[in-house]
Amino acid sequence: MPGPRLKGVRQREARRARKARLHKLDYSRKTYGKRTIFIPYMDDHGYAMAAAMRAGGVEARQMPMSDEDTILWGRKYTSGKECYPCIITTGDFLRQIHSPGFDPDRSAFFMPTAFGPCRFGQYNKFQRMVLDELGLEDVPLVLLDQDKDFQGDVKNLGADFRKLAWTGIVFVDTLQKMLRETRPYEVHKGECDQLYEKYLRQCEQVIEGRGNLAALAREARSTFEGIAVDRSRARPRIGIVGEVFVRCNQFTNNFMVRKIEAQGGEAVLPPFEEWVNYIGWSRKADAKIARHWKRLLVEKITDLVQGREKRKILNQFQGAVRHFFDEPPSDNVIELALPYLDPAIRGEPILSMGRCVEYVHDGCDGVVNLHPFNCMPGTIVNALLTKFQTDHDMPVLKVAYDGLEQATEMVRIEAFMHQCRERFEARLRAAGNGAGAGIGGAIAAARSGR
Ligand code: SF4
Repeated sequence: MPGPRLKGVRQREARRARKARLHKLDYSRKTYGKRTIFIPYMDDHGYAMAAAMRAGGVEARQMPMSDEDTILWGRKYTSGKECYPCIITTGDFLRQIHSPGFDPDRSAFFMPTAFGPCRFGQYNKFQRMVLDELGLEDVPLVLLDQDKDFQGDVKNLGADFRKLAWTGIVFVDTLQKMLRETRPYEVHKGECDQLYEKYLRQCEQVIEGRGNLAALAREARSTFEGIAVDRSRARPRIGIVGEVFVRCNQFTNNFMVRKIEAQGGEAVLPPFEEWVNYIGWSRKADAKIARHWKRLLVEKITDLVQGREKRKILNQFQGAVRHFFDEPPSDNVIELALPYLDPAIRGEPILSMGRCVEYVHDGCDGVVNLHPFNCMPGTIVNALLTKFQTDHDMPVLKVAYDGLEQATEMVRIEAFMHQCRERFEARLRAAGNGAGAGIGGAIAAARSGR
């Protein structure tokens, strides 16, 4: 039996070996050419990013949306104290590992990482330990740093990865906005979902083949506008905020958007672009603090190029999205949140609070905060929402997720939607009585039947 000293040495060595196996991005064919990089599912934007990697010669695949098997595998290898997104992404890795035909010699896993105020940066360390425990020491866990190494990491993905992935994100964001604004009113049930799937698949193909995504955007827009809709009954719009993973991954939030729609509402979600903008905003703020002017300049140039590329896609959708068509810069969202939080507190709370105020301005009639159980930023937002609720007389629903069935979830959603409908109808009545001067977009939209 080894003494405590020897045990300490062995633990130190194991730690060092694990660290060495956490790979920085180096996607040269020499390194990863023979391996498929599996990306855990967060949202459909991952398909576009995987396609952009494939365009650069890397065999990347986004794994399918998480499911019950994900939870079973994730729970088996976690203690219950981990953040829910960590359980889910680990579960997705394990589901892939146990799927037929998995070849450890031809596989690698992908995981973004960051420094910052919470546990996200620890996911990959934990997942490395799990892979090692399974005897998969040689399966690389490839990291993408969201912070100071971001520019270098992204560069390693290929000369035009950034442009391809970014335009893909803008495309999917806008397609999702059209989907959520049209589906609640479609006459033929399922038509919107079908078209959305079709254009998502085509988006992958176009990106991978470096084709004309703007032309596809034009086509998607006109097809969506051709869908038969019945808008004779206006619906209250419900703004969703919360932790980015749980908010985006429909399985982890028990398909909240569809539940809101089934209850007579129309759901609004921040686009994925919000997070891309915010991590850029954080990098710029850090560069200023460190007086790293070169890094700041690179970020500013990146913003200009991204803005130009975004317009090429967005221009094709002009007029097809009624609300939140063009995502504002992070500074604007943060400014709206200032009555609730100081921007020095990094992470999602400031975005969630800014977005809540934006929802008020845009005429939403309810706000939902989705967050993992015990999530620190999610808990901060819950606390601040109490003041927000009073300030704006707005119904608020707070839902925590941990992968377990929640017996009262549906009752709570129904009660919340009832409150939202009442608020919406009261505003409509007030507008009808001439008392609605200054009331936001929902009333105008409802009155014009859009
Ligand atoms: S945001 Fe919440 S869920 Fe995500 S790492 Fe931080 S504490 Fe965990």
